[in-house]
Amino acid sequence: MTKRNSPLQAETICAQGGGAHDASAGVSPAIQLSTTYRRGADNALIVADNFYARYGGPNLRDAENAIAQLEGASDALLFSSGMAAALALFRRLAPGSHVVCSSRGYFSVIAWLREQDARGALQVDFFDPRAPDTMAPLLRQGETSIVWIETPVNPIYEVVDIALMARAAHDAGALLAVDSTAASPILTRPIEHGADIVFHSATKYLNGHSDVLAGVLATADETTQVWADVREERKVGGATLGAFEAWLLLRGMRTLHLRVAHASRAALDLAQRLERHAAVARVTYPGLPSHAQHAVAKRQMTGGFGGMMSFEVKGGEVGALGVVARLKLVKVATSLGGVETLIEHRRSIEGPQSDVPPGLLRLSVGCEHADDIWADLDGALSSGL
Ligand code: PLP
Repeated sequence: MTKRNSPLQAETICAQGGGAHDASAGVSPAIQLSTTYRRGADNALIVADNFYARYGGPNLRDAENAIAQLEGASDALLFSSGMAAALALFRRLAPGSHVVCSSRGYFSVIAWLREQDARGALQVDFFDPRAPDTMAPLLRQGETSIVWIETPVNPIYEVVDIALMARAAHDAGALLAVDSTAASPILTRPIEHGADIVFHSATKYLNGHSDVLAGVLATADETTQVWADVREERKVGGATLGAFEAWLLLRGMRTLHLRVAHASRAALDLAQRLERHAAVARVTYPGLPSHAQHAVAKRQMTGGFGGMMSFEVKGGEVGALGVVARLKLVKVATSLGGVETLIEHRRSIEGPQSDVPPGLLRLSVGCEHADDIWADLDGALSSGL
């Protein structure tokens, strides 16, 4: 197993992501859109790894290398969306395999696992990540294959102790997979805390410009059967990221460290101001001492607490929808992790089965000046009082 432990710091890996283009002497990588690659007179591939675009290609490898280095991973694979990546991890488990999953987190992953459980394709047990001690009793010794957690947890932003989860999963012979989308590898490297697989919706912070749909899985050990299965699933299932999207993703990643640092600073500032606002009942931001898992966040997150938070507006759903209707600068849209600040009333997006509080708004802080975001939020909140 070769960990891609780079001697370089994360900032340098990002800024120089993908390296230069040797053939043209360009300082940014070239795009290779070819779907197929030539063979020589001996019928062997001229470039050993370049075969057919569904198997990957040079732009994907550039971006995968950068992500593997940032995560301290042995290998990484890019998919055409976050959901395609997440599902690739489960699709080749033996029928009826046992999986343990956090009951809170990105709703489509949880809904898909519930569906697999209902149709008997997998056996899935769910635990509440706010009560981490309830996870271990669900594990079946030598039988549970994967434990899936997310931290910080979308859309409320509780924090889960990765090391605790990894120890419990490993004691039962299971692998720990972590959806680390909200943290990004700048703030948390789950493999350092014992995780086996790291997942990102690369649509979010990794790309950062709300213009690429992508997902990635990174592994601590590329020699495992699970990783061979993930690789095969991408190759045969064909949910491989396109070369142009991989190039755009790497271009976005060149400023990942700057964007995440800015968003973390601005989010902390805004969370503190929101906590003091008369129209706000509760703020959940891992960087606030009032956050229930602030101690875990301080141990697990380095360099900031990220750009994501939720806050509950007094007046429930009507109050929250009134606030978003009055915003002028902050955009009301789904998704997160882009340079522009987005806000969303998650309960109306998730539908009637959602357990998200009615007055809750999810805020993805972007790269604008915090004072401008605050002026907009304060105006929208105060005029509803
Ligand atoms: N995980 C998290 C935490 C997400 O926020 C999302 C998307 O919002 C996903 C997974 C799914 O990723 P994608 O939309 O790229 O398929």
